[in-house]
Amino acid sequence: MKTPRLGAGLRLALRHVPGWMLLVSVAGLVASGLSVVTAFALAGLVGDLLAGAPIGGSLGLALGSVFARGAAILVRDRLATATAARLAGRVRAELLDVVLRDGVSWRALGRRDAVSGLYVDAVEHLRGYVGWFLPQALVAAVVPVAVVVVLLGIDPVVALLVGGCLLAIPASRRLWNAAMSRRGDDHWERFEAYAARIEEAIRGLGTLLALGAVRRHRSRMAGAGEELRRASTAGMRTSLGFSAVMIGVVAVGSTGATVLTASAAAQGRVPVGAMLLVLFLSAEAFRPQIELGSYWHESFYGLAAAERIAAVLSRPPALADDGREILPPGPPAVELRGVDFTYPGSDRPALSDVSVSVPPGAVLAVVGASGSGKSTLGRIALRDLDPDDGAVLLGGIDARALDLAALRAATSRVDQDAALLSGTIRENVLPGGGPDDAERFEWAVRAARVDEFADRLPSGLDSDVGESGARLSGGQRQRIAFARALATGASLVVLDEATSALDAENESLISEALARLRGQVTMVVIAHRLSTVRHADLVLVLDGGRVVEFGGPDELLAAGGWWAAMVEASRADLAGVEGR
Ligand code: ADP
Ligand code: MG
Repeated sequence: MKTPRLGAGLRLALRHVPGWMLLVSVAGLVASGLSVVTAFALAGLVGDLLAGAPIGGSLGLALGSVFARGAAILVRDRLATATAARLAGRVRAELLDVVLRDGVSWRALGRRDAVSGLYVDAVEHLRGYVGWFLPQALVAAVVPVAVVVVLLGIDPVVALLVGGCLLAIPASRRLWNAAMSRRGDDHWERFEAYAARIEEAIRGLGTLLALGAVRRHRSRMAGAGEELRRASTAGMRTSLGFSAVMIGVVAVGSTGATVLTASAAAQGRVPVGAMLLVLFLSAEAFRPQIELGSYWHESFYGLAAAERIAAVLSRPPALADDGREILPPGPPAVELRGVDFTYPGSDRPALSDVSVSVPPGAVLAVVGASGSGKSTLGRIALRDLDPDDGAVLLGGIDARALDLAALRAATSRVDQDAALLSGTIRENVLPGGGPDDAERFEWAVRAARVDEFADRLPSGLDSDVGESGARLSGGQRQRIAFARALATGASLVVLDEATSALDAENESLISEALARLRGQVTMVVIAHRLSTVRHADLVLVLDGGRVVEFGGPDELLAAGGWWAAMVEASRADLAGVEGR
């Protein structure tokens, strides 16, 4: 079946703007109908002139229908613009809902830019397709049939010729459809690749400049741009191929109609007035298809775009959100039971058969080599991702049975790359507004040592952090993220190498502040430095996604395994420093 491609855009339009689509289509039909009236009027006018009859009536009709048609086209285009704009808005809102629903998982899977290309550009391409192409497709299906029926009554031979040619146009369009879909898909794939490269370059510009890699990256970007150009040109070529066929068919149809009618008139089989009418009407029979062809040319990327958008919108949620249970107040116990997780497309599990149990209010330190699965464990504990097998129990309840929004409100995190939003420091500490609890806010700001640098800024806590926090240092951003985690009053907090950008003094001050939360918050602390986890109640050592050690720090120290070796190594380091 080739039709689902046409269906995606149509379904979007019918779901979001059915009334508007009806109005545009009616306006299109009226405009096209007035075109046919003009044909009648012109035939009458020329007939009157040839016959030397008074022309007042036919001239009036011709002028009236021409002006009315102009007005109808104006109305149709305005309606089409409004329809397209409304649809674009609605589709963007729907896409945004998907982003908000699945964004956490996309981020966890490393797919940040998943829909930005769709959101901005593909939706733009929907406009021409839905506002102009689809309504015109209806006109092109209805008006020519009516015209051919009228022609049948005047000159059946010409009617059959015109009808045959008209059937040939959609039939050959069908042949082109598959190729056009492929081209359209190809275009969007390259477009997304190109857009991703540009975004990546802008984000990593500093690194590229520092490493002197700009030239190399630029040539790679040029390569991606060249591929996009090639895909677009190929699309245009294919589309032009169809246009050529259509122009050929129309030429054959109208020339044939002219020759046939002229010879019929010469032989006296058809009166001259009727001949003119046949000539004008056969032109009108082709006009809707010609217009459709020109819209097609501009909107065929919209066809593939609609399909891609529809595919994203119909994707099942990344995380099932049908749980209704609420975490009981207070810090939850965290338990992982036989958790397996493999990233999509990866052939190695990131976690295998991980089982740990953390009592309420305890601090779990997670250590292990880079790539051992620490961050994945943090994501699974916060339900950014669901395990492939096994379960996460929070407060004794399966995380999947918990109300997701309530779970998000009860949890918090600080990551290695703390993401800030444009706005002030205060807004970033309390992104949800507030403060509900001014005292807590003050405490969080002080505990995370945000006041220490905010006080030196001209507007204090109301200073602008710049786009994504660009005006702050990495350490300052991380401190704001800490304050945020503390201010929300979350009962489960995951810190993923959260002190990586802090100097030793700030790190130890923040560690002190965290230690004061002991018992009030269950904490998972993923650490690369031993100093961060010296307050841990439990230690989990991961290696290649498996649990190699789990227990109290003293117990593990006595056992003389991995953890003991790590402690030993850091003592030796310290001794080395002190001995100097
Ligand atoms: P750690 O935090 O201990 O350094 P991670 O949990 O980030 O380790 O990663 C565990 C494993 O999963 C690694 O082998 C890593 O390459 C892989 N991995 C992490 N994120 C992704 C991802 N988005 N897609 C595919 N594989 C990933
Ligand atoms: Mg990590």
